[in-house]
Amino acid sequence: MNSGHLLLLGMGGTIAGLASDPSKPMAYQAGQISVAELLHEIGLESDIGHVEAMQVANIDSRHMTEELLITLGWAVKAGLEDEAVIGIVITHGTDTMEETGVFLHATLGKLASHYKKAVVLTGAMLPSNADHADGPLNLRAALYLAKEAKDTEQYGILAMMAGKPCLARDLSKQHTHALDALVVNARELDGPIHKRQADLSLPGEAQWPWVEILTSHGGAKGELVDALVAQGVEGIVIAGTGQGSVNRVLAERLVWAAQMGVAVVRSSRTGAGAVFSEIPEPDTAWNWLSARDLSPPKARIALQLALLEANSRKTEDWQSIFATI
Ligand code: ASP
Repeated sequence: MNSGHLLLLGMGGTIAGLASDPSKPMAYQAGQISVAELLHEIGLESDIGHVEAMQVANIDSRHMTEELLITLGWAVKAGLEDEAVIGIVITHGTDTMEETGVFLHATLGKLASHYKKAVVLTGAMLPSNADHADGPLNLRAALYLAKEAKDTEQYGILAMMAGKPCLARDLSKQHTHALDALVVNARELDGPIHKRQADLSLPGEAQWPWVEILTSHGGAKGELVDALVAQGVEGIVIAGTGQGSVNRVLAERLVWAAQMGVAVVRSSRTGAGAVFSEIPEPDTAWNWLSARDLSPPKARIALQLALLEANSRKTEDWQSIFATI
């Protein structure tokens, strides 16, 4: 039996949301009740032990900011380093859970494994007062996953949604309203997923590189690329078609952007599967990089972190850092 307590960090989301009419759960406001109230609502059994709740934010996660990611990151780090904390659960909106997941994985995944602790992201698709709200079950399951980490040896940055635990890095939202909207992207790549020897630095300030996502589609125009480069964009993630293929008009301007020093990463808008480097676009010849199994929003965060790390350390380029996230 582990001594110590769990730390529960609240970020808001639908799990903390309220519908004005509980029988119409699609009309609701996210981030309305506190994480302490959520904890109180699930009425923990005695075997989970003490849980300490801390409200970091209470927002709809579409409004997530880099400042909040930093604040959350430092709160998680403090919890990992605190001997009295045996595991951490974060309640979070599902819309950008995958972005926070890849951020925490890249910056604190190794630290969590070092301390043999799990950090578990969870949320809900229905507001807290809906009939059959899924939040309480998800929260309870996440708390158990964090509590049992030492016994199950499931450490690192995890997620627990609809009864399925996974690495938070592998999760993406692929349905607008289904209870199992968050799915795990089946891994198609060889080798360990966390190839880095050490975590990337946890940013201490909010000056993150400017990285945008551009979607490739029929009838694409290149002017958007020109406008972004003129405004000083530092990275562009292409949400490409199929295996990350790019409309020729857009590709031409992106090749130019890469020549101008913009970091260009190619991902897929399909929602699942991986983008491999040589098929069907010649990344090497064009100086682009493939996002592998990272969805466009995850690749955007990963590219920001890779650029930040490369700028501050100067010993490794962003390409080799990005390739290991
Ligand atoms: N809009 C909500 C959020 O991301 C959706 C959710 O939590 O499911 O905060």
